[in-house]
Amino acid sequence: MSAPTDSSRQERRFHGIGVSPGIARGTVFLHRADDELPAPRVVGEDEIPGEIARFEAALLATRAQILELQERIEQSIGAKDASIFDAHLLVVEDRTLIDEVLRMLQRDRRNVEHVFSEVAGRYAKTLGEIDDPYLRERALDIHDVMRRVIHNLLGKGGRDLGSLDSEHVLVAHNLTPSDTAQLNRSLVLGFATDIGSKVSHTAIMARSLNIPAVVGLHDVSEQLSRGDQVLLDGYNGVVIVNPSDQTLWEYGQLEIKKTEVEEQLNKLRETQSTTVDGRHVILSANIELPEDIEQVQLSGAEGVGLYRTEFFYLNRTELPSEEDQFQAYHKVAEAVRPHSVIIRTLDLGGDKFMSALNLPEELNPFLGWRAIRFCLERVDIFKTQLRAILRASVLGNVRMMYPMISGVDEVRRANRILEECREELRREGVAFDPEMEVGAMVEIPSAAVSADLLAREVDFFSIGTNDLIQYAIAVDRLNERISHLYEATHPAIIRLIRMVVEAGHANNLWVGVCGEMAGDVVLAPLLLGLGVDELSTGAALVPRVKRAVQALDLAACRQLLEDIRYEDSAANILRKCEDVARAHYPDLL
Ligand code: PEP
Ligand code: MG
Repeated sequence: MSAPTDSSRQERRFHGIGVSPGIARGTVFLHRADDELPAPRVVGEDEIPGEIARFEAALLATRAQILELQERIEQSIGAKDASIFDAHLLVVEDRTLIDEVLRMLQRDRRNVEHVFSEVAGRYAKTLGEIDDPYLRERALDIHDVMRRVIHNLLGKGGRDLGSLDSEHVLVAHNLTPSDTAQLNRSLVLGFATDIGSKVSHTAIMARSLNIPAVVGLHDVSEQLSRGDQVLLDGYNGVVIVNPSDQTLWEYGQLEIKKTEVEEQLNKLRETQSTTVDGRHVILSANIELPEDIEQVQLSGAEGVGLYRTEFFYLNRTELPSEEDQFQAYHKVAEAVRPHSVIIRTLDLGGDKFMSALNLPEELNPFLGWRAIRFCLERVDIFKTQLRAILRASVLGNVRMMYPMISGVDEVRRANRILEECREELRREGVAFDPEMEVGAMVEIPSAAVSADLLAREVDFFSIGTNDLIQYAIAVDRLNERISHLYEATHPAIIRLIRMVVEAGHANNLWVGVCGEMAGDVVLAPLLLGLGVDELSTGAALVPRVKRAVQALDLAACRQLLEDIRYEDSAANILRKCEDVARAHYPDLL
């Protein structure tokens, strides 16, 4: 064996896409996806006792993790939710399953993770095919436990990211929005992934959680090892392993500069987002979970412009009840009062899945059975949410909007179901606000083009540019391979936004933007020039956008719109936006 060379300590840099600003320094924790199995391997007769011992240890570790998780859930949510894990405990103690694994191990002589995944997978498949909702649930339990056991067999510790107990920089091939929702924000200093994009929900969450993050780092998860020391630069999209003293000094200086800018921005908390010539633009924040509300209050936002309620459905084995949802919406509405919270109805699908719903796999999930399409068919699930929102509407300033609207028919159908819920509540004598504003998200080009027709059915529009861009230019928002084609300043995007604003205003509707464009200070002159009334972005970005709005004047923004009216290149339009931004707030760029 050769002695370790100095090169193992040399600084190495990996370049990707910075999706959440900030600098993190710490020890790497490598997270591998639960379904990554090593290649099957023939094991010798003499290895069998070792394989059995590994299997038994993994079952014991899994049992201990489930008990610990159960205890945590019982303390944080309640005994009823924690009892869901009783079924998981039964799986790790199931003698028939365990005996079959041991028999197959002796017979087939393959590594135990393969034998176990085959046996457990077969059990789950058989149960999943039975036409009985209870047994189908048990199939999901087996899958869940199976992932945990394999994880332990592979020596990766608990798969529950939320249970890590020391500070670390998380490195993974990919993180799903459900993984990200589990992160313990006080221990995850930053995260780095091989794949990903700026507008994935994982990146959006990183910004909400204020966790510096870099994605699109190709094979960083293969190159790094657990325990490596890294510096992660979320501003410039760089991960540096074994940073040299010189690098650490340079980053120290950068941090001092950034902290100064942050301190200046924090002073704006109590001020208004009004341009120098007196145009007030409502500046609100996007949240994913009720806990995010503290950050919103600190940011100086005027309420919540987008509450992505589907995050409440992720990482659960059962659908949230009407009461659970009511409590969450109430908490947010109360915290932001007198400002409003705009609750977006369930937007599951795309890159956000709830395992308990067992949704069929689709070839194009972003174009598939998601959001309002799903809700209009699963009226039971939709009504539970609508009733909870209506009940919360009397306890604060609550507005509601439907995601993924493609045309008038969907809004009418959704409104009919909403009316049924109002009727039910009236009959039950439950209070709600009959005047609650109901809006449509405009994030599909068909909705933007028919905004004049949609305007007759709703009280406001909120433009979801993240999806609008991906659908209008046909660029998958998650695919870093084509991320250079995902251009917010494409002339078609500007025209679509203009159509929506004009149709909204012609019908006395206010129009907001709640996609990531709203948080980009370079694009603020463009959106103001287009006449949007509200900008809603992650809480961490609110102070920057406020500073930008306060430095701008509407005349300059309108002039920008004139200057680009016949410009055909997205890059040139972006450059012109940058020119205006640099002239008004160079410190933010
Ligand atoms: C959008 O599409 O712009 C939006 C705000 O919704 P989401 O990012 O959750 O799809
Ligand atoms: Mg969207």
